[in-house]
This record gives sequence, structure tokens and C-alpha cells, in this order.
Amino acid sequence: MFRSLGYLILTIFGIIIIRMVIGVLFKLFSSSVSADGARQRTQARRPRVPQGGVLQKDPVCGAFVPEQGARQLTAGGETHFFCSDECLKKFRESSNA
Ligand SMILES: [Zn+2]
Repeated sequence: MFRSLGYLILTIFGIIIIRMVIGVLFKLFSSSVSADGARQRTQARRPRVPQGGVLQKDPVCGAFVPEQGARQLTAGGETHFFCSDECLKKFRESSNA
């Protein structure tokens, strides 16, 4: 009777120890996996070169516009880039005046 109780307690302790070991191993494994995932995520979040190439400053409103698709005006050997027709018009008016 006492012997079987001892075995029972030993078995319970054994199970508890095995579960603890498995838990620690699982924690180590999952933490290394999540660290890898975080690293991959930060790499994916790295700023990419904006589509449309080089950004140029709009001399009228100060906005940065991509060279491709921006309104352009070449004056005095310099090419100016504008975010909108409005800015282009303003620049033309101010340079004419
Ligand atoms: Zn503008």
C-alpha cells in the first residue's frame, strides 16, 4: 500500500519534471522563432526607394514630388518640378514678373 503510494508520488513528480523540461524547451524554441520573425519583419519594414525615382522639391509649395509624373518647367537651363499645375502656374507668374 505504501509502496504503491510512493510509486504514485514518484510518477507524479516525474510527470511534473518532464512537463517543466518540455515547457522550458518550448519557451526557448518559440522565443528564438519569434525573434527570427521580428527580424524578418524589420527587414520588410525597411524604407524602400520610392517608386517614380528621384524626389524633387517643388519650389512653390515646398512639397517633394517624384521626377516621373511631376509637372516640369525648364527655365534658364534649370528644370523645376511641381506637384500641380497650380504651382507651375504660380512659378511661371512669379518668374515673369
Ligand atoms: Zn506644389
